[in-house]
Amino acid sequence: MTTLTVDLDAIAANFRSLAARHRAPVAGVVKADAYGMGAPAVGARLFSEGARHFFVAYAEEALALRPHVPGAMLAVLNGLDPAMAGLFVAHGLAPVLGTLGEIACWSAQARCIGRALPALVHVDTAMNRLGLSGRELGRLAAEPQRLDGIDVLFVMTHLADAEDAANPRNAAQAARFEAACAALPPARRSVANSSGVFLGGLVRSDLARPGAALYGINPTPGQTNPMRPVMRLTARVLQLREVMPGETVGYNGIWAAPRPTRVATVSVGYADGYHRAMSGRPPGAGAPAAAFDGARLPLIGRISMDLATFDATDHPGVDQGSEVELIGPAIPPDEVALWAGTNGYEVLTSLRPRHGRIYAAL
Ligand SMILES: *Cc1c(COP(=O)(O)O)cnc(C)c1O
Repeated sequence: MTTLTVDLDAIAANFRSLAARHRAPVAGVVKADAYGMGAPAVGARLFSEGARHFFVAYAEEALALRPHVPGAMLAVLNGLDPAMAGLFVAHGLAPVLGTLGEIACWSAQARCIGRALPALVHVDTAMNRLGLSGRELGRLAAEPQRLDGIDVLFVMTHLADAEDAANPRNAAQAARFEAACAALPPARRSVANSSGVFLGGLVRSDLARPGAALYGINPTPGQTNPMRPVMRLTARVLQLREVMPGETVGYNGIWAAPRPTRVATVSVGYADGYHRAMSGRPPGAGAPAAAFDGARLPLIGRISMDLATFDATDHPGVDQGSEVELIGPAIPPDEVALWAGTNGYEVLTSLRPRHGRIYAAL
């Protein structure tokens, strides 16, 4: 059984440090259950820290969060499903409008109820994923009455390379966005994600949209992580056993003992979000491990659904019932991501702690 401890004070501290750096309002991106940290608790805490802008991916996420962030802007990144327009109005949600069709739908909704409705307008400047294309932007610029009844809170775009500060594509996106904003009726702008906050003056952004950095993921890869760790995933040692040289551990015998080895079997597996892809990496520096009392126990053998095995030979303090850290201050999510061949975002959003979440200082 795994336990996820989430430090709301650390998330609040990360929020304040991003706000100090951005020098303009900072939103809380709390999609995917606040990157696995629990959207209601995180949303409520950021709200009490003064956050008045929140982003989620889906309307359903917004409805669940609404009571925790009363009166705040609550924006739905994945846009407006016409079938849900009434719900958006009833709960004061702001859709992120990324097509002329969505704009027409929201404008019609405003006309129908006889008052202006809040929204963000998303302009695509590189991702080719969501947001108005260049052609659609041209049509909107030529016919601004398409926005009648829409209170455009922000025009926004999303950076594709912000974590790579030296990448010239950042400046190219900034220039494209500048041109797009000049073509549209004046409005405030929202550009910077976590890494975008660290790009300095490259982009003018009146509202930052950090997610990852709030949750302790390094927004400046390759440099020291300026954010505080906010979470710890722990699990207990169920059994210890001695294996002789040549004996194998776990499925398919991918690991054989090179020496008499004390094996600690821990109650964590890929069903908890402890990625199976970490299995079988060569030992040594950069090898997957769990932390115990300041030491690292190397992962051995294949990660199973509910179990993983670690080499405790050099750590006699590890005992049955000992709690080891799998991800946390000693084993950062970004490092786990390297082992698993993914990023820190997927490491956090994969977590399915079976003991649930505890909100406490780390
Ligand atoms: C997820 C998301 C963010 C937050 O990005 P981070 O890199 O986690 O800070 C910001 N904007 C949009 C459009 C997103 O989808």
